[in-house]
Amino acid sequence: MKHLLDPTQNALESWLAERGERSFRARQIRQWVFHRRAASFAEMTDLPKSLREALEQSFTLWTTKIARHSQSDDGTEKLLLELADGGRIECVLLRDGVRRTICISSQVGCAMGCVFCASGLDGVDRNLTSGEIVEQMLRLQQLVEADLRLSHIVVMGMGEPLANLDRLLPALEVATSDEGLGISARRITISTVGLPPAIRRLTEKGVHYHLAVSLHAPDDELRNRLVPVNKNIGLEAILSEADQYFEASGRRLTFEYVLLAGINDHEKQARQLVKLLRGRTALLNVIPYNPVAGLPYETPSAAASRRFREILEHGGINVQFRERKGDKINAACGQLRRITPQTVTLTAQ
Ligand code: SAH
Repeated sequence: MKHLLDPTQNALESWLAERGERSFRARQIRQWVFHRRAASFAEMTDLPKSLREALEQSFTLWTTKIARHSQSDDGTEKLLLELADGGRIECVLLRDGVRRTICISSQVGCAMGCVFCASGLDGVDRNLTSGEIVEQMLRLQQLVEADLRLSHIVVMGMGEPLANLDRLLPALEVATSDEGLGISARRITISTVGLPPAIRRLTEKGVHYHLAVSLHAPDDELRNRLVPVNKNIGLEAILSEADQYFEASGRRLTFEYVLLAGINDHEKQARQLVKLLRGRTALLNVIPYNPVAGLPYETPSAAASRRFREILEHGGINVQFRERKGDKINAACGQLRRITPQTVTLTAQ
């Protein structure tokens, strides 16, 4: 069986052609899936019954099952999806005024090993397929009121998206295409730990997504401790590729900085950051640490956060503190993990 939602299988057009069906049927079927939110082929009532049955025999529409659906009183909803091979991933819908942003995963687990993040605690199992990435978008779209559409996508869930670019990019093409979700590239953000060769690929491809680079430290010595993959990469190489991406795409860069009490929230580090980022067309997105069960880190005090922010603002850096959303259901940044019965007891503590 082929996965209908997987653009890399590109099977629908050729399958229709082989059966002697007219080519507009492909558009019609996609309309049903992406715009009319059909959950099964049977619902596609303006297709001949024989075609619906044949589709059923040849294509899977959904490869994932919703293993759990959590809702927070701030409007955030989280889905734990079980994949066909039993793997588990999480994805999130965030509501903020008129925005309906989804946060999607790119891998089962993560290999980057950032010491403060839940997603990489057990390493990585595998890359998600393009179809599994698209499926998260649709599963989350189904949670939104029928007359409303998704407005933004952030690839900030589990995994390192730039380690799975070959499958991510086709999925994002579906997101931006009119026959898909019709979300403009300007409203899509890819967040990366900073893998220079993959950033270069984005530059060369000429895509126009927002790029967010997870910085977390103003120098390599500290960054090596917080983001272990940095040892083989280094800030300079990352910043230089990010600058090239900015030149080519014209998209303002975002740098993310998880603020960890007593570790990277000192005034000295704020001043170092000012030096590092001054002169760049960039936004510094500071994310006060979201607690992860089993990890020893702490969220900085309000006073420490304020001091950190003031130094950056005085230094002329465009800084924003990310509002915490979804933490009551462990759906905030860095809290997504592949929940299994064992982790349920862990996170309930
Ligand atoms: N691998 C990608 C995307 C996933 S994480 C990346 O590294 O950018 C999305 C953001 O959440 C990253 O900036 C990540 O560092 C941050 N994050 C991870 N754990 C966190 C935590 N416990 N609290 C707050 N932010 C966290």
